[in-house]
Amino acid sequence: PSLQRSYGISVEPVHWSDIGGLEDVKKQMRQAVEWPILYKDTFARLGLGAPRGILLYGPPGCSKTTLVKAIATTSGASFLSVNGAALYSSYVGDSEKTIRETFHHARLSAPSIIFFDEIDTIVGKRSFSAGGDQGGGGGDSVQERVLSTMLNEMDGVENAANVLVVAATNRVDLIDKALLRPGRFDRIIYVPPPDLEARKQILKIYTKGIPLDAGVNIDSIAKRTEMYTGADLQSVCREAALVALRSRIIASPLDKIPASDGSVGELVNANDFEKA
Ligand code: ATP
Repeated sequence: PSLQRSYGISVEPVHWSDIGGLEDVKKQMRQAVEWPILYKDTFARLGLGAPRGILLYGPPGCSKTTLVKAIATTSGASFLSVNGAALYSSYVGDSEKTIRETFHHARLSAPSIIFFDEIDTIVGKRSFSAGGDQGGGGGDSVQERVLSTMLNEMDGVENAANVLVVAATNRVDLIDKALLRPGRFDRIIYVPPPDLEARKQILKIYTKGIPLDAGVNIDSIAKRTEMYTGADLQSVCREAALVALRSRIIASPLDKIPASDGSVGELVNANDFEKA
């Protein structure tokens, strides 16, 4: 049962064009992940090894998870995912086994990617630090054993066989330094919040399916959403459509949805974005 629990395997396909901005991050990831898989022979000829681990860090809601899904989609690698909550919900002792089994399974289905989301909750320093310690804290807490299992697995010779470990965190400061040594997470990539150009692109992505009034000015919305993450912008677009729906398209919840006549009233307008 633990096998089924830990292997997320199917990912909804994500393409690079679904992610706005982050051109440099995308490029770095493609080079690190796709190239060794797609150009395996060339890499071997040049004596180049593939990276073992990539750590993505940056504020929440800025597409770290989505980038990993894009990598899995485009490289065609099998995808295995481990998250902290699921890992520690099992009884003590099982967590290390789950890690070992995940690596084992990844090797069997290589080329593969193991994704550790919120890795700070899996092997962060949080539970070892002073104060409010709930993790047992002693020299042999579950987290410490999970960390050493992970290090062992990442160092394993067999692991060279096309298993890439990608981890994401909002708190890179909590990551145990042992994980950052060469041969472990040796590429560390910052995923920044979206700048103006990225916000424009993200807004375009999320308004693509929305019938917009000509008065909606994406550039000006992008300018006025400086502190917004990609997730915030996605929700602004959804909210604007809902405002239109509630205020004009379906005036009362009991109304039937009228057949679309493409009238101006059915378009999502600038005011709806204002209220979103
Ligand atoms: P967390 O640290 O909270 O897990 P994250 O950095 O992994 O966040 P995601 O879960 O990938 O972020 O993104 C949250 C949502 O915001 C997703 O639905 C994603 O599609 C959307 N999103 C974030 N950034 C972008 C972007 N640059 N382009 C398109 N969508 C984005």
